Amino acid sequence: MQSVSAIIKPFSKRFIGGETLPEAIETLRRLKKEGFMTTLDFLGESNLSRVDAQKATAEYIENLNVLKKEGLDRNISVKLTQIGLDIDENFTKENLIEIVKVAAAMNGFVRIDMEGSPYTEQTLRLAVEAHKKNRSVGMVLQSMLRRTSEDAVHLLKEAIPIRLVKGAYKEPPSIAFTDKKDVDRQYVTVMKRLLTSGIYHAIATHDEKIIKEGMAFVKKEKISKDSFEFQMLFGIRNKFAKQLVQEGWRVRIYVPYGEFWFPYMVRRLRERKENIWFVIKNIFRG
Ligand SMILES: Cc1cc2nc3c(=O)[nH]c(=O)nc-3n(C[C@H](O)[C@H](O)[C@H](O)COP(=O)(O)OP(=O)(O)OC[C@H]3O[C@@H](n4cnc5c(N)ncnc54)[C@H](O)[C@@H]3O)c2cc1C
Repeated sequence: MQSVSAIIKPFSKRFIGGETLPEAIETLRRLKKEGFMTTLDFLGESNLSRVDAQKATAEYIENLNVLKKEGLDRNISVKLTQIGLDIDENFTKENLIEIVKVAAAMNGFVRIDMEGSPYTEQTLRLAVEAHKKNRSVGMVLQSMLRRTSEDAVHLLKEAIPIRLVKGAYKEPPSIAFTDKKDVDRQYVTVMKRLLTSGIYHAIATHDEKIIKEGMAFVKKEKISKDSFEFQMLFGIRNKFAKQLVQEGWRVRIYVPYGEFWFPYMVRRLRERKENIWFVIKNIFRG
């Protein structure tokens, strides 16, 4: 029988923008032609050696330079465990600040992805510190976490741009909503708060019902379509994303690339039972 990774690999092509940077650049070019904005994510997480964390930091900086050279969006998404959070917070801060400095110098932007709850507190702290030094950095909040409404209030006071997501990590009920209805309810409440904050935020979801509720709210409150953006993951709800662009909404696609795609793919599979069925069918075929 094949390994799980070998079975998932063909399926991963749908969700990953390329295994190498040149492949990812091609994907970004195509998306740009279609009217999308993009953010590039160099896949990787949980680096346990300083050397690997420094290599990842260098790769992010290289990404920014290549994006600038290619005339593409100078916008990247970074995971803090990839640049040292499992090793040392100060070391991570130095790496993050270095990346943000390069982004700021070219008028670019760094979004700090939010990982599982063991990292929430440190990630928020580092984001606030990095933002105090340089405003070219933003944060992610997950509506599945009970604490998120309060975190939103705190980050709004600091005027930090937020990407709002539902949350992709398995969390204990003591800190996270287990019922999808509660996750969605908090998403909508926080979304409305963000949209009326006067800060440029990102509404990151493929949930058509929530997106439509956001659009209706924006219309009712006479909020400019340019004052925020929708975000979606590469390979999910493509037609719907294109439709939004055609209707004049700002849409950014999150494009992951690299060889370390396995944990990212597992999160994408878990989100939808049809994806899991696909893998199971292939196990029995293989
Ligand atoms: C741009 C972006 C950045 C993100 N960054 C983070 C982050 O930093 N931290 C974090 O925890 N999470 C992140 N996420 C993931 C997020 O938390 C959710 O896990 C993911 O977006 C699925 O939730 P949903 O909002 O689309 O709603 P859901 O209710 O899960 O899905 C709504 C609809 O979207 C489609 N859909 C959703 N997921 C899939 C899938 N995997 N395959 C096929 N169709 C699908 C289906 O049609 C589904 O009915 C990010 C998501 C986006 C869009």
